[in-house]
Order: sequence, then C-alpha cells, then structure tokens
Amino acid sequence: MTAPTTPRTDTPGQPAPATQQPEANPRLYPSVEAWVVGYFTPMFLHRVPGSPRVRWCARWWDHAEAIARLTVLWNGWEAARWEPSAKPGWWLDLDHHLPILIGLDGPFRGCRQPEGARPGKHEPESVPSVEPAPSGWWD
Ligand SMILES: [Zn+2]
Repeated sequence: MTAPTTPRTDTPGQPAPATQQPEANPRLYPSVEAWVVGYFTPMFLHRVPGSPRVRWCARWWDHAEAIARLTVLWNGWEAARWEPSAKPGWWLDLDHHLPILIGLDGPFRGCRQPEGARPGKHEPESVPSVEPAPSGWWD
C-alpha cells in the first residue's frame, strides 16, 4: 500500500489551508459504525442468530476491543477497495479477527442476543486492576 501522492501544501506550524483537496481514495463508509451496519453485519453475522457457538452484542460500540478490531477491519477493507492485491490479505485479517470477535470467550462473552421471549443482555467488560510499578522498577 502506498501513501497518498498528494503533495503537502501546508507548512509545519502553520494552519492547514482552508480548502482541502478531495481525498484521493475516498471511503465508501464514513465511519466504522456505518461499515458495521452496512457491510459487516449483513455479510458476516448471519451465523449469529440461534447459534450457541458464537456471541454478538447489539451494543458492540460499548466494547472497546470490538471497536478496535472492527476499526482495523474497516480501515483495511476501505484500503483494499483501492488496492486489489490487498484483498486476499484483508480476508486473512478477517479470518483472524472474526473468530475472536464473535467467539465464546471474545469481547461479547457476557452478552446475549434476544431469543424468543428471553431478552438480550449487554455486559460491558470488567477490567482487572493493575498496580503501578514501584519507583525504580524499570531502571
Ligand atoms: Zn454487550
């Protein structure tokens, strides 16, 4: 993947010019949420309803790990649209992240989709405590 070739016209320390050049490779989706709703969910979450082997949360945006993994996938997907040779690599990234994302021990492990009369459940991650290292520990 190469960086955009548009030359910089701003000077360090100076504000950017008021008129921006159009992005060389514009994104199809304006946000990770739009990508999840418009592409990821219909394409990959068909295996979620009724399956006891996977987890998903309707409030995925309240799970930091899910946001991070989905943002990586979205950015790679958008870039691969402009670089066809990157598409196989994107699928490998997906095959890595998807089982973690929707796995039984993934970020949605405490959440449940609604099923029949049973309501869904959202349980944000709890994070274990960490203690600061003693002074001089890293010296
Ligand atoms: Zn949840």
